[in-house]
Formats: sequence, structure tokens, C-alpha cells
Amino acid sequence: MKLHEYQSKQMFEEFGVPIPRGRVAMTAQEARSIAEELGGRVVIKSQVLVGGRGKAGGIRLVDSPEEAEEVATQILGMTIKGLPVRRVLVDEAANIETEIYLGITNDRAERCPVMIASAEGGVEIEEVARTHPDKIVRVWIDPLLGSREYQARYLAATIELPRDHWRDFLLIAQGLFNAFTENDATLAEINPLVITADGRLLALDGKVVLDDNALFRHTDLAELRDLDEEQPEERDARKYGLSYVKLDGNIGCMVNGAGLAMATMDVIHLFGGKPANFLDIGGGASAEKVAAAIKIILRDPSVEAMLFNIFGGITRGDEVARGILSALEATPTDIPMVIRLVGTNEEEGRQLLTDANFETAPSLAEAAKRAIELSKGDQ
Ligand code: GDP
Ligand code: MN
Repeated sequence: MKLHEYQSKQMFEEFGVPIPRGRVAMTAQEARSIAEELGGRVVIKSQVLVGGRGKAGGIRLVDSPEEAEEVATQILGMTIKGLPVRRVLVDEAANIETEIYLGITNDRAERCPVMIASAEGGVEIEEVARTHPDKIVRVWIDPLLGSREYQARYLAATIELPRDHWRDFLLIAQGLFNAFTENDATLAEINPLVITADGRLLALDGKVVLDDNALFRHTDLAELRDLDEEQPEERDARKYGLSYVKLDGNIGCMVNGAGLAMATMDVIHLFGGKPANFLDIGGGASAEKVAAAIKIILRDPSVEAMLFNIFGGITRGDEVARGILSALEATPTDIPMVIRLVGTNEEEGRQLLTDANFETAPSLAEAAKRAIELSKGDQ
């Protein structure tokens, strides 16, 4: 789950990271009164869960409350990379001298958090990694020891941060690390962390991604989820306990088990097809869950055939077959489909499907080949 910039910065502030004064607004009038409160120059920032807002015109500096209202009206009417802007952050404008990058994420290969810094702040770090990989410096943090001061010093020295900012930088690095671990984040990023003309370090932008699997430990954070900003398919999938990821192929897949779902996608690729999604319906595929899964898959207009791959373990084959039948009765479709069903009660399950004129396949390879044929319009 991604947090908005204003939510991320509030979190950072709780951990001692300095941020500009400011507040979030839902309307242009609110933006105006916040600008009045702050006085002077302010920056109006669209709150959408994508990067590169600056380039898209979603970040504007203004000089007066009147202008703040005018610009907020414009930004609140924008759509950035497909996402509607529903809120703007109104922050005191900073007088920027230098922009640096500071972030923490997990390095899966090293099995520990990695803290990353760069003197090339302000641009996306992926871009820096591509164009100036030598400008990125990393330290790996032992999760049992936590971040040590010498590590942040090493980052400060390597990015050639002037000495008089080291003390602040060390506190910010420690605060960011604490925010990252205590909230079970998978990413905590300040880009840019700026040095202002009056010599302060300030987190101008913030980005936090929380681990969905740890949200039960942070009910207050779970409430911050912004449903407006999510893909409707993924939102519905979560509601029914399904794991769904949209992909760009044309074969819709419904599978029980994440590993089996990945294997299914591999086999489709092996025979020259492209899956339209990853979908794991999990254990105990009730008719209701199956119906929700089918609806979500078919919402994608590029789906031209569907492949069901069900391995009955605890889940019984006949129960899944009934689930599929009742789901399709309630949500009829012309999309051709093939069903591979093996395991517990497979005969009963297959019989139910065959009786209802559904096509079944005896193996995953055959099911995948058949789904590819069907997607090309072959009968
Ligand atoms: P992003 O484009 O979505 O990453 O949004 P950021 O919050 O990182 O802002 C992009 C850029 O806008 C920053 O790198 C700054 O150069 C500029 N910017 C943001 N806030 C201010 C501000 O208060 N004053 C000035 N002068 N520039 C700002
Ligand atoms: Mn940024």
C-alpha cells in the first residue's frame, strides 16, 4: 500500500525528520486559506500515487493566496498518469540550494534493508541508476543491529555532503530508518532531501510503501488507504481475498495457489501465448469467490479466452466445478474457456463440467495449448 506524499511526510516528522510547514486541501478555497495561514510563497502539490508529478505540471509555486486558489483549482481538475487529483498539499515554499536523494528499501538478494543516497536528488532514482550508476551509494543494514551512525556518515561522505550538514543528515537517516522498520515499510524515500538557502535540511518530498501483509499490525495506517487511487480490479480482488495482478496478454487465468498460478503463466508462455493476469483464488473456492474472480478477469477487455487450472487438495474438485457453474450462470459470457481440474474428487468435478458442456483438458500443457487456440478464434 502506497502512502501519499503528505501522509509519508507526516510519518517522517513523527520520527524527527524535518519537513516544510503545510497541510493538505480537498478544495481550492481550503488551499487558499492554508496559503494565507502560511504567508508568503507556497507550493501547490498534487497528491497522486505516481512519481514525476513535477514534470506533469502537478507541482506549482505561487506567490499569493489568490494565486494559490487559482492554481489549486487547475491542479484539482487534472488527471496525472490516469489518476484524478483529489487533494493538493499546500506547503511553505523552500529556497532550494541542493537536492539529494535518501531512501531505504529491502534488498532481497542480500536479505536486509539497504540505505541508498545520491547527490543527484530530485530526479527519479531509477533514472539516476540508469544514467549515472556511479552516483548512487548504498549501505546494507543488519536488521538485528539496526542502522549505525558510521553507515550514515559513509553515505554523507561519499555524496560529498558539506560537513556542517552531517549532524542533521545523521538524524534524518536514523529517523527514516526507524520510520521504515517501525511501520513495516518496504520503501521509505525522501526525494529530494534539500539543503535550503538558509542552511537547513528539509524533506521536500516523501514516499512510503507499506507491506500489505503487515498492515494488520498497523490499523491506523490501514485506514489511510486511498481507494480512489487504486485500480478497481485490484480493489475488488482484495475484497474477496483474491490475489490479482493485471498483465498485458489475452488469456485470462484463474488458478488456486500462487505457485500453481505462476507455473500456469509459464506454461502459457512456453506454448507461445500471453497471460492477461495472475490470479490466485486461494483455498476453498466457494461459488461466490469464483464468481468474483471471473468478473474481475472479464472486466479486462483484452481477455479472449480463459484458462481455469484447479488442483484439488483440500479444495474438492466437485465443489470448484459447482462454483464455476453457478458463477457462470449468474455471469454468462461468450468468452471461450477450458478447464483443467485434477486432484480430490476430480472425476465428479469433470463430470459436472462436461454435463454442462464445458471443455476440460487432462493436463496443464493441453489446457494451455487449447486456451491459446481459443484465444485465436479457433474452435
Ligand atoms: P515529484 O516530481 O512527484 O517527485 O515531486 P517532488 O515533490 O519531488 O517535486 C519535484 C520538484 O519540484 C523538486 O525536485 C523541486 O525541484 C521542485 N519543488 C518542490 N517543492 C518545491 C519548493 O518548495 N520550492 C522550490 N523552489 N521547488 C520545489
Ligand atoms: Mn520527488
